[in-house]
Amino acid sequence: MRKQIVAGNWKMNNDLSQTELLITNLKRQVKTSEAEMMIAPSFTNLWSAFESLREYDVEVVAQNMHFAESGAYTGEVSAGMLKSVGIQTVILGHSERRAYFNETDDLLAKKVDAALKNDMRVIFCFGEELADRKSNNHETVVENQIKNGLFHLEADAFKTIVLAYEPVWAIGTGETASPEQAQDMHAFIRKTLTNKYGQSVADSVSILYGGSVKPNNAQEIFSKPDVDGGLIGGAALNANDFMAIVNAF
Ligand code: PGA
Repeated sequence: MRKQIVAGNWKMNNDLSQTELLITNLKRQVKTSEAEMMIAPSFTNLWSAFESLREYDVEVVAQNMHFAESGAYTGEVSAGMLKSVGIQTVILGHSERRAYFNETDDLLAKKVDAALKNDMRVIFCFGEELADRKSNNHETVVENQIKNGLFHLEADAFKTIVLAYEPVWAIGTGETASPEQAQDMHAFIRKTLTNKYGQSVADSVSILYGGSVKPNNAQEIFSKPDVDGGLIGGAALNANDFMAIVNAF
């Protein structure tokens, strides 16, 4: 059985006291689903979030990291630094990183390698822009992002990756991919993985959907056979909404 995962990407929101408040509110919620639950606060709040959630079934993950182990990379954070504050999982390749910080497939491949070398789990994001979908190139774009970022990995390493399909046109826009659009793309992704790594590897990899997932649409999206969870932005900033999404499984 594939792991079901719901991860909240807080992006550049919440200072220390807001982080503590949101975590306090999350602790008051009742989790009824089996899905793994994760939150991704900003770098400055990872340690306090990790400490505060030590006894809870919520993993604290990072939104980004650099590929180098250490050195002259002003403003950057390494895998080793993340691990030293308890972080075991990192989100890589979010469309905002790709678009605003020029993260290319090549750079992301290096980040993936650095994370795996440090025994970290990777949530690898990708997704087409609206123009790609309108020109019917969405599958090619997604296939290339996956191939260029990940297909240098051996099967054993690839099996540890969590994929997150996030169509750029659905992120923060209130416009979700329909459950059918999500399922079609996830099935296409799984077929792409099958061609490269074989059926059993493809069947073991969790593929999350992200883009305007809310309490009122989560259940239908998560009910699709190839959707194994969600990467949640806006709705993860509210404890009730986020737990409603986690409990949609
Ligand atoms: P959203 O963001 O849920 O606000 O659309 C999703 C994401 O960027 O991961």
